[in-house]
Amino acid sequence: MRLKDKVALVTGASSGIGKGIAIRFAAEGARVIINYRPNSPHDKAAAQALASSLADRAIAVAADVSQRIEVEQMMDAALAAFGRLDIAVCNAGICPEQPFLETTDDHWNQVLGVNLYGAFVVSQLAARQMVRQGEGGKIIFTSSVHEDIPYPRYTAYCASKGGLRLMMRNIALELAPHKINVNNIAPGAIATPMNQTVLDDPEEMEKALREIPWGRFGQPEEIAAVATFLASDDASYVTGSTYFVDGGLTHQVSAY
Ligand code: NAD
Repeated sequence: MRLKDKVALVTGASSGIGKGIAIRFAAEGARVIINYRPNSPHDKAAAQALASSLADRAIAVAADVSQRIEVEQMMDAALAAFGRLDIAVCNAGICPEQPFLETTDDHWNQVLGVNLYGAFVVSQLAARQMVRQGEGGKIIFTSSVHEDIPYPRYTAYCASKGGLRLMMRNIALELAPHKINVNNIAPGAIATPMNQTVLDDPEEMEKALREIPWGRFGQPEEIAAVATFLASDDASYVTGSTYFVDGGLTHQVSAY
């Protein structure tokens, strides 16, 4: 049990990577706040089913991470339920496609609002609580291999993940005196609903697999394993780092 009695918030935990992290954290002894986006009945049902499967170790809380007021209310609910916060995983994200020449302000604002501003707000409110507690803490962002490598037709997404790359490093320096470790996990291609159209299309799959030295997509559990390390005392001297979990994709990617 590497996270015994820790309290962890995981945003976007109704599916995919966030769900995998929430399940693993609970198995490691943490109490978990499972965040989901409020406007999706599907996400609500999934988050509530996950929370009830974890019994008194978890609560499901709706909040659109791009809305500060909703994130504040989620923090209040977390503290009311569990009394403290030790770990925040800023994982909620969206990845819609739009070629640069057609990128609208709405698209840009939506992607940056969830992926970058949302991560900023969640990490800021989490860090303020950790500073109040005075016992350190762990903040983990789910960025992407696209914090580093370009991805044509996904300019807003890449801007958001590239922003996370340097935001994380900055926050890591500012929070070091408070003994709050701040790191990124940069997944490659992971088998989640975000990639469903590729997973369902044999031709697209073949193209994608050509870019992955490991020869397969990753699983949410493989991201959760690294998140568990970063959330645990084993990572006490790790801060300001990005952990690529990508089966070697970053070193092989040729063209999309
Ligand atoms: P997913 O679609 O399964 O999960 C995304 C989660 O974010 C969902 O639970 C969704 O409800 C939540 N979400 C979306 N908008 C939200 C909002 N406004 N407020 C709160 N929650 C919101 O996809 P995933 O693959 O699990 O993605 C998780 C993270 O991993 C994202 O940040 C994504 O960019 C990143 N990522 C995924 C991959 C991949 O290949 N799947 C690769 C690199 C990075």
